Amino acid sequence: MMQQWHEIRGQLSDDTLLMFRLGDFYEIFLQDAEWGAKLLGITLTHRHGMPMAGIPYHAADGYIQKLLDRGVKIAICDQVETPQPGKLVKRALTRIITPGTRLADTQIDAQRNHFLLSLTLEKKKLHASWLDLTTGEFFIASEKRPENLFAAFESLDPREIIVPENAVSRWAESMEAHGFHELYTHLCDGRAVTKIPDYHFDTTSGAQSVMEALGVLNLEGFGIDREHTALGAAGALVHYATETLCAKPENLRKIREYSTEKTLLLDPATLRNLEIFKSAANTRQGSLLEAMDGTVTAPGARLLERWLCAPELDLAEINRRQNCVAEFVHAPGLSTELQNLLKGIRDIERILGRLQNRMRNPRELGGVRDTLTALPAIASTLLEFPDTPVAAIASRIHDFETLSNYLDRGLADELPGNIADGGTIRDGFDPELDRIRSLTRDSQQWLSEFELAEQARTGIKNLRIRYNGAFGYFIEVTKSNVHLVPEDYVRKQTMKNAERYTTDILKEREREILHAEEKSLGQEELLFNQLIEAILEQASALVETASALAEIDVFIGWGVLAREWDYCQPSIDQSDTLLIDQGRHPVVEQMMRDQRLGLAGTHAFVPNDARLSSTAAENEAPQIALITGPNMAGKSTYIRQVALIVLMAQSGAWVPARSCQLGLVDRIFSRVGASDELARGNSTFMVEMNETANILNNATDRSLVILDEIGRGTSTYDGLSIAWAVIEHLHPKDTGGPRTLFATHYHELTQLAKTLARLENYSVAVKEWNDEIIFVRQVIKGAADRSYGIQVARLAGLPTSVIDRAKTILERLEADDSSHNLLRKRMNKAKSGSDTKDEDDQLALF
Ligand code: ADP
Ligand code: MG
Repeated sequence: MMQQWHEIRGQLSDDTLLMFRLGDFYEIFLQDAEWGAKLLGITLTHRHGMPMAGIPYHAADGYIQKLLDRGVKIAICDQVETPQPGKLVKRALTRIITPGTRLADTQIDAQRNHFLLSLTLEKKKLHASWLDLTTGEFFIASEKRPENLFAAFESLDPREIIVPENAVSRWAESMEAHGFHELYTHLCDGRAVTKIPDYHFDTTSGAQSVMEALGVLNLEGFGIDREHTALGAAGALVHYATETLCAKPENLRKIREYSTEKTLLLDPATLRNLEIFKSAANTRQGSLLEAMDGTVTAPGARLLERWLCAPELDLAEINRRQNCVAEFVHAPGLSTELQNLLKGIRDIERILGRLQNRMRNPRELGGVRDTLTALPAIASTLLEFPDTPVAAIASRIHDFETLSNYLDRGLADELPGNIADGGTIRDGFDPELDRIRSLTRDSQQWLSEFELAEQARTGIKNLRIRYNGAFGYFIEVTKSNVHLVPEDYVRKQTMKNAERYTTDILKEREREILHAEEKSLGQEELLFNQLIEAILEQASALVETASALAEIDVFIGWGVLAREWDYCQPSIDQSDTLLIDQGRHPVVEQMMRDQRLGLAGTHAFVPNDARLSSTAAENEAPQIALITGPNMAGKSTYIRQVALIVLMAQSGAWVPARSCQLGLVDRIFSRVGASDELARGNSTFMVEMNETANILNNATDRSLVILDEIGRGTSTYDGLSIAWAVIEHLHPKDTGGPRTLFATHYHELTQLAKTLARLENYSVAVKEWNDEIIFVRQVIKGAADRSYGIQVARLAGLPTSVIDRAKTILERLEADDSSHNLLRKRMNKAKSGSDTKDEDDQLALF
């Protein structure tokens, strides 16, 4: 047995822990035992001086999860034949579980994809491929500007990253790959990274193994050239999946090319700043995802996340989605009905993924059965939407009547977690199984009669016939009655309070019973595999059906949301404008209502308009809206709400506004000034400038730029000067430039409206009342006249003595000099000795 262990261990890398099946346990031996026992908090024992630790087979899931969480890969070695007494049972490696290749439903998050990502840098391009083994989704992409793809990776949130081992060290050293290496290191932070030999990334053999995995002879059907360089990365994934599954992955059906040009890109900073998937507190609560999630199924939740990661640029697709939502907005009764029906379906994509990759347990089949049972009612309810885009989705739901009947007849009502436990197949389904089972049942009858007879014969009233896995059937007699035991009893085992015996008759019968049970299990397994085959034959129809149901789920959720919160259907076109009438922040609005339930008298969310256009002129919407106003007025909320409305609209959802007209946006950029982002380390100013640079270099006339208090991370004059220059850069002289919202507390910037034709000043209004201020949350035209810093400080609870003193100082300063004069003086001082021409230009602006 240890020889088996050594052979298998030898094939594995050092960071992998081998769990070796031994009867009802997984044992961990030798070098693995010490760190395994420590990580799992289990006892380390020694047998013949050999360290070992064991975990019960039935509890393995929990332990595996624990190891995965600590970044350990686990190799599972199982017994691959029925053990025979006195013979070494055959064992084999059955799978290696890694963070990116886990499949068991206890080990994955139902509502999220689990992507395995591979990367390589070749011919000055970044090539990547990602694959979710649990669902079979498979993508490739190549990109000249790595930062664009890294933006997508951040939202994919891969669980494991595969890279060519030698190349990685080259990236670190080469200047050319420098920027790339930085992005790569950042992506890897907190994620599992696996390095594999570079030759697995070869394009030609990659294409070959991808085609083999998909079972196709060419990739033209997927619109992918067989020379596509990213096929190297895809091939590496197929190789890695095959190695970890110890078999070819069987649930890959198609591969798609992802193109950054076809999606609205959201870079990592924007995802974070706009709190798309996680709130600033790093929770799902408070994120846009959570606010927009009305799904009732896990596949629906995953689809929603995928759509929010990659909003569309394709008008036809956006319109299709919006129109589907519209159908449900107008059919609240049917929506509720459908949601209730959808709750009855199970995660077919993932169930298939497991069945196809040899993780077969009877309950998975139960999941398919239950889903198929729920389908006809869903399909017939969807008939209420004839001639609509919903009907087109409904047509992707297949009819599985035959399969459904077959599973109903074949599967028992209550299913065991393991086929070996017996009881998977329903009585009356298979005559042979029924016959074997009746033999077993007869034996049970015989055993109880035997028990009664022996009690009578020996006069031992509490004599029992019992069974256990190690000793089979035996007669148990308590110690006090041992003197009554007859001659023909043969002792089998001595317990603390009892003796266990057998007799010739019992031994004979035991053989028959065990044989019948074995036969019955064998027959069940045969039938079980037939049922699985029947399901797998319909795999592609099932997947298509599942994807249709997931869409329906998302659309109904959005429809319910739109009704509940009074959203509108945005109108989207190729123009360069953005006109929002009475827009609201989807997340803040919902949070305010939640709070209001407990807190009477709080004001409801105040809606605001937004108008932007990159060419301005005729419709007089500015290209840049500069928003000033005191702290706490609502600037950040306002500019974020505009970005969120755009993102929602291009995902195909309805939006929180009275009306919304939007010219397609290709990228949303956002930058939040350092002090608004407390969670990040102290090199914040550097980060802020990095991200600002990214915006200035990459924003196009189609982009939307959200800048919040940039320049805050440094001294006032540095910050102001930087903010000033950034705005100028975003405003090309003649025309064009990204639609931009810029929130700032630098009042000096409002002067820019005099020189920049397409910039307009706005402010968030406040009312003064008895030297106090009241926030009205209204965005109005024109610059804010004062900063009201002292009033805000009072609201924040500074002591009255400090507030009074501050007022005196302020009055004196204002009397002394206007802040502009003050600034001019300081700027002059700072500039003396510098290039005078430049200086004149700058000063003319004040
Ligand atoms: P600023 O960026 O101007 O300092 P914020 O945007 O952070 O202000 O807003 C401060 C608070 O005001 C937010 O926490 C929010 O609760 C509230 N708020 C903002 N905008 C609105 C609005 N339109 N209606 C109601 N409350 C709002
Ligand atoms: Mg703010």
